[in-house]
Amino acid sequence: MPTHNSHLAAVRCAQDRTPRISSNDWRCCCGALLGIHRDGLMHVSFARGHEYLFSYPATATCRRCGTMSQTKGPAR
Ligand SMILES: [Zn+2]
Repeated sequence: MPTHNSHLAAVRCAQDRTPRISSNDWRCCCGALLGIHRDGLMHVSFARGHEYLFSYPATATCRRCGTMSQTKGPAR
């Protein structure tokens, strides 16, 4: 049944196109990515390949809107 199969393929394709927002993301209220929760630490990547791991609570200033945000751990 070719019509049934093509329907399934279309659904799978639509799912692949949705943006992947990980629950490990630490985001500013403006949506900018501040860091990633990783193994109990906050992983922050800066330009030019500098990467830092912070323990909680971690505080950072958004590079887009300048708002200071603090995280005490991954949201559950
Ligand atoms: Zn922001």
